[in-house]
Amino acid sequence: MAARDTFLSFSRPVLDDGEMAAVVEALRSGWITTGPRTAEFQKRFAESVGASHALGVNSCTAALFLALRVVGIGKGDEVIVPALTFAASANVVEHLGARPVFVDVDAVTGNIDPAAVEAAITGASRAIIPVHLYGRPVDVTAIRTVADRHGLVVIADCAHATETRVISPGGETKHVADFADLAAFSFYATKNLTTGEGGMLTSHRAEWMEKAAVLSLHGMSRHAHDRYSESGFQFYDILDAGYKFNMTDIQAALGIEQLKRLPARLRRREAIWRRYDEAFTDLPLDLPVAVPDAFPVHDGIVHARHLYTPRLAAAPRWRPTFKIVLPRDRNRLLDLIQAQKVGVAVHFRCLPLTSFYRERYGYRVGQFPRAEAIADSTFSLPMNPYLTDEDVESVIDAVRTAMDQLDQTD
Ligand SMILES: *Cc1c(COP(=O)(O)O)cnc(C)c1O
Repeated sequence: MAARDTFLSFSRPVLDDGEMAAVVEALRSGWITTGPRTAEFQKRFAESVGASHALGVNSCTAALFLALRVVGIGKGDEVIVPALTFAASANVVEHLGARPVFVDVDAVTGNIDPAAVEAAITGASRAIIPVHLYGRPVDVTAIRTVADRHGLVVIADCAHATETRVISPGGETKHVADFADLAAFSFYATKNLTTGEGGMLTSHRAEWMEKAAVLSLHGMSRHAHDRYSESGFQFYDILDAGYKFNMTDIQAALGIEQLKRLPARLRRREAIWRRYDEAFTDLPLDLPVAVPDAFPVHDGIVHARHLYTPRLAAAPRWRPTFKIVLPRDRNRLLDLIQAQKVGVAVHFRCLPLTSFYRERYGYRVGQFPRAEAIADSTFSLPMNPYLTDEDVESVIDAVRTAMDQLDQTD
């Protein structure tokens, strides 16, 4: 197959005519900020993940921040965060003056390791932020058990996990948010469900969610849609020094339509995943496992397939002359794939080893051996319903060609 002549972006939102029409309708409705469409999206989203309450906000970062804020986390508190995640999962802890305590991840899944969580607990620990990395479920039962044993709150970072489900001890299929006290979702442009920018906070706890709703819009006792309704002039009170985190009805209009299309788009992601798996079996790559072994029953478990993340295998040798050195060769591989007009990415760097966290807390190379090994060897390939079958084949060709070139340049 010939090389691509146009660049394939690593990620691009999938927006059909129906979704565009819903946004235009919202624009024409005369109400573009938080209003009836946000209320409807919240209701539908809560139903889709089996939560009692949902609050639309302008990012997952805002949702995580509100979650920590409503449970009262602040100065002197510690929050346990996996070492392999996006910066937002830990930055929000800093924003509240608390300390993120990083722990290592499982060597195979990259998800937070429950044993490492338990080992990191001190008298100052207040919460755990498990991240369902790439869309693969964390061992939620183990995290819940550790949290309950030590009286910690579980705040799930579900940025990759809009569709992620596991089997509960009772045998039911449940969204992973159900095992957390609060869960935060991202609708950023690259995520499985997008509203451009946006996020959602969900929980079963009414009192936390009422507090979060007030904090999300200046601390006002009444939101704009209630104040400007036909039921007469209404005063508001300021109940707290709140924030400006609210979702707009333009975002919600898109979110409602995206939510309807999510199951069909997940099926396309699954098909692309299977094709990649099949095409790469003979290469010296560790392919991502769809369902981790920690789960005794695999039937009914749903991996959201947000990211497809093979790893360049350090050992064994691929060909007798060829020895892979990480991360050098992984970085070369990224360049070689990009040179064939296929966009790639890395998810993620080992967060405690980035400048800010290293300088602030003195983290050192070698402290998170499993997260570091993944960070040095992983790369992400396009995994998105907008890909045509030809696009998928061109990604496969680019990877195979790049692997050959990598061998020759050694
Ligand atoms: C994208 C992402 C976030 C942040 O989402 P925003 O909506 O951009 O704030 C948080 N955690 C993880 C793991 C992410 O990938």
